[in-house]
Amino acid sequence: MSPAPIIVVGGGLAAGTLVTQLRERGHDGEVVLLTEEAHAPYERPPLSKDLLLGKTEPQSAAVHDDDGWYPEHGIELRTSTAATAIDPAARRVQAGGDWLDYSDLVLATGSRPRRMAMADEVADEVADEVADESGAAVFYLRTLDDSLELRERLHAGARIGIVGGGWIGLEVASAARQHDAEVTLLESLDLPLLRVLGPEVAQVFADLHREHGVDLRTGAQITGISAHGHADAGGITMALADGAAFDVDAVVVGVGIQPNVELADEAGLTVDNGIRTDARLRTSDEHVHAIGDVANADHPVLGYPVRVEHWDTAIKHAKALAATLTGTPTEATDLPYFFTDQYDLGMEYVGHPGPEGYDRVVLTGDVPGRVFRAWWLRGDTVVAGMHVNDWDAIDEVRRLVGTSDGLPPA
Ligand code: FAD
Repeated sequence: MSPAPIIVVGGGLAAGTLVTQLRERGHDGEVVLLTEEAHAPYERPPLSKDLLLGKTEPQSAAVHDDDGWYPEHGIELRTSTAATAIDPAARRVQAGGDWLDYSDLVLATGSRPRRMAMADEVADEVADEVADESGAAVFYLRTLDDSLELRERLHAGARIGIVGGGWIGLEVASAARQHDAEVTLLESLDLPLLRVLGPEVAQVFADLHREHGVDLRTGAQITGISAHGHADAGGITMALADGAAFDVDAVVVGVGIQPNVELADEAGLTVDNGIRTDARLRTSDEHVHAIGDVANADHPVLGYPVRVEHWDTAIKHAKALAATLTGTPTEATDLPYFFTDQYDLGMEYVGHPGPEGYDRVVLTGDVPGRVFRAWWLRGDTVVAGMHVNDWDAIDEVRRLVGTSDGLPPA
């Protein structure tokens, strides 16, 4: 009897990369991929950038250009199929009403947007009023379908209210302005991205958006969102604690994400800010693994567990786990890396200041001209580095982050 398949749960970059790597590393056993989405695995960064800008179409976000790759490589791809339960003791997972045996199970279930109750109430109200879905007035951005629906609403003169000045909110603001929509962006803290980048660098992003015509309101406390008519007629009013009120045609909520841990939790696996794993991405059950956004993995270099909600980690985890599953035990050791593109600003960031944080930031280069490098230091240790539009810098950033050599005098 042939061994049970490796079963992968997820339809994102982590799942797609893992099955690809298994085949590239010569694994010739059965592999089943279960995704609740209707699409083959795809990556999400284009959803708030080129796809939203109308520069690319959905298939360009796919992990494989051609969905035929999966059958050609003997991967049983089951779309629109959610895994609903795991029985780790019996090594089986439930999907589509069947229990499927596995030799190893990989959870790459990713994350979902945090909901905003006030906005959801308006969405329900508007949905009751309009017969067709084009009247959708409240958007979250996580899936291909979310992006395509939102894209329909971004046009000259459309009034878009964005809640949250994180990566998603800022990238949507950039796309919306490039479609000539009017954008009001509400951030509760004093600057967008303040917690991620600190005040020195967050200010660069605030200036960038204001220069591009975004009405960026910081320190904004939303006290009410209400629908007063058909969404297509511009029927949503947003009210702030300072007494301001304004009308928008659509609201985009980007207030963070939460990992999809329920499947693991209900199966009794250890869950703590994501599915807990060791550095080889093994959960509390030796035949169940977790990778990508959902994994809170021990990090051998940082010395503490870390859950990273970025593109590169999905790939790096998948590569490390594929190596382990094909006979080369491998830890995921890469430092967190992420990137963004907004208007004509591109940046890459490496590192993780962690619970101890940093005590100073050094900026080198032309900050007003937006071609510079930023370094976060704790003592002499460079805990994180980034560049903005300085495309030769990434090698130096990678080399210096994590070292205690200090920065070169220049
Ligand atoms: P996900 O991409 O979340 O995929 C998880 C998949 O699992 C989903 O398809 C989900 O439907 C499926 N699933 C969940 N539960 C089940 C179940 N029970 N059964 C079956 N299927 C299930 N990162 C960057 O570094 N730079 C960027 O510029 C950037 N831009 C982004 C823009 C957007 C709009 C978004 C949403 C994310 C962006 N990210 C970016 C983050 C990056 O996309 C994520 O880190 C990455 O998608 C994580 O991949 P993943 O495969 O772990 O999870």
